Amino acid sequence: KRDGGAQHRMHRTAAPSAEDADLLQLEADLHHALARGELELHFQPQFDARTLSVVGAEALLRWRHPVHGMVRPDRFIPLAEASGLIVPIGRWVLDEACRQAQQWSALAGREIDVAVNVSARQMIDDHLPGEVAEALRRHGLAPRRLELEITEGIAVRDVDQARGLLERLHALGVGVAIDDFGVGHSSLAYLRDLPVRRFKIDRGFLRGVPADAGGARLVAAMVSMARGLEVGVVAEGVERIEQLDFLVEQGCEVVQGFLLGRPLPADDFLHRLLDDAFG
Ligand code: C2E
Ligand code: CA
Ligand code: CA
Ligand code: CA
Repeated sequence: KRDGGAQHRMHRTAAPSAEDADLLQLEADLHHALARGELELHFQPQFDARTLSVVGAEALLRWRHPVHGMVRPDRFIPLAEASGLIVPIGRWVLDEACRQAQQWSALAGREIDVAVNVSARQMIDDHLPGEVAEALRRHGLAPRRLELEITEGIAVRDVDQARGLLERLHALGVGVAIDDFGVGHSSLAYLRDLPVRRFKIDRGFLRGVPADAGGARLVAAMVSMARGLEVGVVAEGVERIEQLDFLVEQGCEVVQGFLLGRPLPADDFLHRLLDDAFG
């Protein structure tokens, strides 16, 4: 079912609202966005929490709409998921992220990792592992340098299906991170058994840290739980120096957030990398 997206969410009882019409138009436009070159990736640096050197980047999708300007992913990713367009778009994201990571590494003279968001709809597509392998091969990127970020919700919905897929990805050598860790309500028992490389603590948990003692204890518990499971930890949404200090104290390895770097177009990210190395 390809076109059930915005239509599906329209109110059945009331007449279609202006908001619904906007969504329908946006979804129609999205069909052409990829072919017209309106999609681009921005890259948010990820840092070694202790040395603060850049270790990688998260690829974040942007849509430069000819009329509406920059459309936020929170607005169009749900449309892309509902319509199935996320599959070709996601394939492009994967390819483009691998291409960039390989190019930066060559230019910066050291390995830069890249993290790519994978939506629920892509996770039920049997072709995903093959496409991942193909993107890595095409750009000559070592598999361990690619990380796929999936949300806890996906992993929980169908544990056996998720496990099968994660095992195929693991066998390829790519890493999997559980995005928005702590937001879902997954059972730890089952997270323990999945081949996952890292937990990515959702930025919502960091908001009041460290002043808010309850929040601080929660984050500390998540980091120590990850350590117990021998899984790495990334924290996202680091906006203040006190949050960073707290995370380093707790032993969080990788940090990402506006304090250290916003998402940047690929060229700007490269400049940032080169500044980091030489100046
Ligand atoms: P996410 O995966 O949780 O990505 C992190 C979001 O937090 C990004 O928003 C990023 O710009 C923002 N962020 C990073 N650091 C900070 C900070 O210090 N403070 C605050 N307030 N925000 C911060 P963005 O780029 O708008 O992306 C929103 C969501 O859209 C992502 O959330 C992800 O779920 C989805 N998304 C983005 N790109 C893709 C993609 O290529 N594929 C899929 N399936 N989803 C994507
Ligand atoms: Ca993410
Ligand atoms: Ca997140
Ligand atoms: Ca999120």
